[in-house]
Amino acid sequence: MNYKPSFNLLNALIIILLMAGGQLIASENTTVQASQIDDGPYIFEHSIKGNQAHWICKNQLVTQNSNLKEIDKGRLTNEISINKSTTDITFEKPALCQSLSTSTVTTSVISVSKDEYQNVENIVALSDIHGRFDVFKKLLKNHKIIDEYSNWQFGTGHMVITGDVFDRGEQVNEVLWLLYKLEKQALLAGGRLHLLMGNHEQMVLRGDLRYVHDKYNLAEKLLNRSYDQLYNQQTVIGQWLRSKNTIVKLNNTLFLHGGISTDWLEHKLNITKANQLLRAHIDDDNDEIKKNDVLQFLLRSNGPTWYRGFFNNDYSEKSLSQLLKYFGVSRFVVGHTTQTQVLGLFDNKIVAVDSGIKNGESGELLFIENNNLTRGLFNGKRQVLH
Ligand code: ZN
Repeated sequence: MNYKPSFNLLNALIIILLMAGGQLIASENTTVQASQIDDGPYIFEHSIKGNQAHWICKNQLVTQNSNLKEIDKGRLTNEISINKSTTDITFEKPALCQSLSTSTVTTSVISVSKDEYQNVENIVALSDIHGRFDVFKKLLKNHKIIDEYSNWQFGTGHMVITGDVFDRGEQVNEVLWLLYKLEKQALLAGGRLHLLMGNHEQMVLRGDLRYVHDKYNLAEKLLNRSYDQLYNQQTVIGQWLRSKNTIVKLNNTLFLHGGISTDWLEHKLNITKANQLLRAHIDDDNDEIKKNDVLQFLLRSNGPTWYRGFFNNDYSEKSLSQLLKYFGVSRFVVGHTTQTQVLGLFDNKIVAVDSGIKNGESGELLFIENNNLTRGLFNGKRQVLH
C-alpha cells in the first residue's frame, strides 16, 4: 500500500501546536488539553545510517542512530538475548519517555520456530490482547507467568498467544515489545513463547488499517509513514512478526486464532505447509491471492484466522471429530470469537480463549497441565474448566 501524506497547512499547524506545549486552542472559549503521547520504539533498518530507533516522547519525535553508539559488549552481557552476535543492537529509552515500560531494546537475529512440540508439561494460553497492555500484564503477573519487573517467570512452560495483538487498544507497541523480550527470556529458561498470527496481524501487515487506534495517527505523521509501514519488512518488529507461525501443536492440542473449517480437508494441508504459505504470502496484494486457491482459503473467512464456525449453534460434532482425527489431536484452542470467560465446548474438545481482554477490564488464561484444564481468573485464582 502506498502512503501519500496529505499534509496540509492545518495539519502542520496542529502538529506545531501539539509539539509546542501539548495544548491545542480549539476556539476562543474552549481549550482542549491534547494528550501527551509516549510511543515506540519503532526501529527501522536504514541502508546508510544503520538501525534507527524512533520514539515519540510527549508528542515529540526522538531518534537514535545505532552507528552513533558504540555497542558496549559489557552492558550487553546483562541483557537477555539469544544471539550475542554483532547483529545485536541495544537502544535505551530516552529520558523524556518515562511512561514507556521498555527501558532497553535489544534486536537480534530472527528465526522461525518449530510448530510442533511433545512432552510439554505446562502450557498457558490467551488471546486477543488488542493493545490492552495493562490487563494483559496484570493477568500474567497475577498468575506468576511474569514477575513484578515483567520478566519471564514461567520456567520451562510454553505460553501461547493465539493472535490479535494489534488494533482497537492504544498500547499495541508496549505489548509487542514485552512479547519480544519474553520470547527470548522463555527460550533461555527452556520454555517457549508462541506468538501466533491472528486476522488483525494479517490486516495490519497487509495495510487494512480500519481498526487502528487514533493515537497512532501521531506516529504516522511524525514518521511520515502509514501504520502498516511502521511494521514493514524494514522494521525490527515487522521482521519478527513475519517469522511467526499461525498454528502450533503442543502435545495433543492444536492452537490457532479462528478455527478449522472442513474446507481444510479438501486442501490436504499439514500444519507446517500452512504456516509456510501464510508466512511467504503475508505481503501479497489481493490480486495475487485471488489467483491462488489455497491462499484464497487460508486468508479468507473459512481460513484458520477468520473461521467462526466452531461457535455456530448447529455446529456438528461429526465435523469436529473428523478434524481432530485429521490433525491427531484431542482439542482445538482458539481465540477470535469473544466470550466472557475461557469456555469449553463439546467436552473441552474446543476451548475458546478470547475472554474479552479487548474490553480493557479483565481477562482469563487457560492452563493445561498434565492434560488438566483450568481457567486462570483475572484475580489470580484458578477454576477447573468444565
Ligand atoms: Zn480475530
